[in-house]
Amino acid sequence: MRFLPVFLDLQTGPILLIGGGELARAKLRLLLSAGARIRWYATDGHHDVSGLDASDAARIEHAQGDPLTADLAGVIAILCAGAGELGSAISARAKAVGLPVNVMDDLAHSTFIFPAIVDRGDVIVAVGTGGASPVVARRVRERIEAMLPARTGDLATFIGRWRKTVHARIAEFPLRRRFWERVVDGRIGALVLAGRNDEAEAALKNIADPSAFAGAQAGRAEGRVTLVGAGPGDPDLLTVKALRALQDADVIFYDELVSPEVLDRARRDAARIPVGRRVGKPGIGQDAINRLLIDAAQSGQRAVRLKGGDPFIFGRGGEEVDALRDANVAYSVIPGITAGLGAAAESEVPLTFRNEALRITFLTAHKAKDAETVDWTALTDGKMTVVVYMGMTAAPAIRAGLLAAGRSPHTPVGVFARATRPDSQAVVGTLDELPALVREIDGGPAILVIGDVVAHSLAWRKANLDSLISNFQVAAE
Ligand code: SAH
Repeated sequence: MRFLPVFLDLQTGPILLIGGGELARAKLRLLLSAGARIRWYATDGHHDVSGLDASDAARIEHAQGDPLTADLAGVIAILCAGAGELGSAISARAKAVGLPVNVMDDLAHSTFIFPAIVDRGDVIVAVGTGGASPVVARRVRERIEAMLPARTGDLATFIGRWRKTVHARIAEFPLRRRFWERVVDGRIGALVLAGRNDEAEAALKNIADPSAFAGAQAGRAEGRVTLVGAGPGDPDLLTVKALRALQDADVIFYDELVSPEVLDRARRDAARIPVGRRVGKPGIGQDAINRLLIDAAQSGQRAVRLKGGDPFIFGRGGEEVDALRDANVAYSVIPGITAGLGAAAESEVPLTFRNEALRITFLTAHKAKDAETVDWTALTDGKMTVVVYMGMTAAPAIRAGLLAAGRSPHTPVGVFARATRPDSQAVVGTLDELPALVREIDGGPAILVIGDVVAHSLAWRKANLDSLISNFQVAAE
């Protein structure tokens, strides 16, 4: 991000507009609609304000003379639109005195740029592409336009009017936030969006106990813990519920498996606390994590426990739920897409397949020692797909166990690393080759899929095609 979106207060001084023609007039319209005062140097000598509202036009000061020597005292920003060659000289002057400057269609000479705007009164959405593509910005804007109810701005205005009154009645900040969430998400918000402002006013006035309305317990915000499945990495694989929980969180305790792109979708003001193992460093331990979750909830916070994949698949979610229940803390669980499913979808491995794979086993084999304790005889059924989590170091033991129990050495096997992430990697071969396949992986996390269905995968089909082509070439030579 090179350009940070911020909102400029136009009440604090005039904007200098330099330029002429339709480009300048388009900027005039935008600035006037936003309430700006404008000092305009019409470089074509033609101060044409036809078509503008008279009261709007009154906010334009028609400046004369050379804009390069203009008095800049009190000016808050400089804008060149249709100013031709003058743009670069004006830009240099603005930069010299530290004023923000925009030269239309000239990123190199601009220190700020205009976003595409969705305007709903008090609610403004700015869409930028860092100047790369106004067309993309416009398309995004269209989608947001379609999504936002027309009266969204009224909702903000309505709340703005009541802010002080409610502030005086609810001192505690987290509780106040809950209060407004309930207003916005509940009946009062719906009334405002339906244009029934009087009824909304009356309903808000009628709230006898604002703290109770906000769901307070013993006068303070009710804390809770939500276990959220973050999925295997691609943030678009978050569920709608997960996204909501991330947006409402006060604090997020996350694992090392949670991708930065997923964390990016969380509320900006939420505290983020890593609690997983880091490379080369042990984690803080399950008991300490349980303690943190309980303390956060008991202090009235909405805590999210964010886990890679699904919380209940090799995620220790069960232990956390036990601890929360024992401590009498309110909790809920939001499932996520587990790594096995993410990898299967991405690599086109149908985990079940008519007549070929009728069963799936999700298995963990963290260390070779764990692999020794697995009853491999239960996994020899040729129509069973076996998905192994944390199976990289134990790969030789997994191979040995399955072969000794009688599973065919020719069984197709896939190793899928960093599944659903931009740098995902798939290596396929046979059960007999498993340890060598694992050695080809350039970094985890990675998951093993064992079973005939792996032969349907993209990687398998590609490998077959490649070997067919090279055989063909050898034959041709
Ligand atoms: N709860 C998680 C699993 C945690 S155990 C889930 O449901 O996915 C950690 C193991 O998950 C890793 O050792 C690896 O085997 C697997 N894993 C997690 N994310 C992965 C990814 N993006 N690609 C491949 N394997 C992954």
